[in-house]
Amino acid sequence: MANVYGFALKQGIGAPSEPAVTKTERVERGQVIAHCPEDKLGNNIHSSISGTVKEINETHIMIEPDDVQKAEYVELSSEAPLDRIREAGIIGLGGAGFPTAVKLSHRFEGKGTILINASECEPVLSHNIERTEKNPAEIIRGIELIMELTNATEAIIAIKGHHESAIAALTSKLPEKISIHKLPNIYPVGDERAVVRECLDILLDVDQLPLAADAIVINLETVFRVYQAVDLKKPLIDKDLTVAGKLVDSGAIKTYFDMPLGMKFSEVFDLAGGIGKEYGEIIEGGPFMGKRASLDNYLQKTTGGLIASEVFWNGPEKIGLLVCACGAHKERLSQIADSMGSEIAGVEYCKQAIEVKGTLKCTNPGICPGQVQKVMALKKAGAEAVLISNCTDCSNTVMSCAPKMKLPVYHATDGSMRACNLKLVRRMKSTT
Ligand code: SF4
Repeated sequence: MANVYGFALKQGIGAPSEPAVTKTERVERGQVIAHCPEDKLGNNIHSSISGTVKEINETHIMIEPDDVQKAEYVELSSEAPLDRIREAGIIGLGGAGFPTAVKLSHRFEGKGTILINASECEPVLSHNIERTEKNPAEIIRGIELIMELTNATEAIIAIKGHHESAIAALTSKLPEKISIHKLPNIYPVGDERAVVRECLDILLDVDQLPLAADAIVINLETVFRVYQAVDLKKPLIDKDLTVAGKLVDSGAIKTYFDMPLGMKFSEVFDLAGGIGKEYGEIIEGGPFMGKRASLDNYLQKTTGGLIASEVFWNGPEKIGLLVCACGAHKERLSQIADSMGSEIAGVEYCKQAIEVKGTLKCTNPGICPGQVQKVMALKKAGAEAVLISNCTDCSNTVMSCAPKMKLPVYHATDGSMRACNLKLVRRMKSTT
């Protein structure tokens, strides 16, 4: 029997959705199974498969799939484009999960820019760039729809300059008012405020939204799903993702398109040929911002990557943590230190990491303010090595001082990068 699919009731920012089906009910692919609560921020959830509802609990709706699945889906019934996007349950698919219909309900008066975040900022993840190469015309159609909805005067696709074939695919189809901005190959150039800074030369304050720069930032896959909702009446039921790391095919980085939401992670890895005999942990997301996950979890709208990391290496007895606002936070670094068998000697934060409403934000993402004092403080606290989550530029700075203090450096991304045979985040060689 096929694996049961699990649809989380809480996906993205806002209130949990309310079940619209009952146990034993038959559902079709594309059918709404949970509604966004009235007058609340949230999103509708649709079934990605046809099958039978097996269970509804506090967190999930569980559906047993039919043996044979059709590609067809129950079409959206709304007429107006913004209503279709809302009905489709689209949220920010780069990981933020903010309801897209709410974001696109803003109408610019005068100048307004749509910034398409195609940076695919995290290493390893590659599905956004490949989607761009596969479907440039559909992505441009999605951008045009968004420009129309928001009355934007221009759109800029922000993409790293080394993705030459994706840029070439887009360039051959670009209409007037849509242009490309080439980003440097550094982390976190895909941070929302970094995208605004790079494309518009405006540095927003940590508590400012892109609207303060007359801009809306939207992730590339989200644009593609907007096109599908408006032109094809398709609800958000499928997801692009990257599966990588310690697979049977060790070190592989594989991309999957239109994977049905709700699929169990173990089944996704099986499709990728299976996990290798030994691995450290399962990471949901990218190497910098991903979280430890279980093989029993289910694909959600915000799942962009699944990585089986390298086996944990033994750390020193005492380790110091250096926390970045745009990378692994203290809790995640502590989890890695624990898996390395190291006790935490001290915790320091990059001085550009500022707490805003309970969340760390960087005042100028990716531009290093200097890390020597922080590393010295960790040495003074008794650290025999440092475990850092810093951006590319700050990791470079740490590497210029920590070895001189005889402190080995570990990075939160090491497990993912080693598992994919990629160069570790250490000294920066090039920004292009
Ligand atoms: S400057 Fe500091 S807080 Fe900002 S991205 Fe780099 S390490 Fe993180």
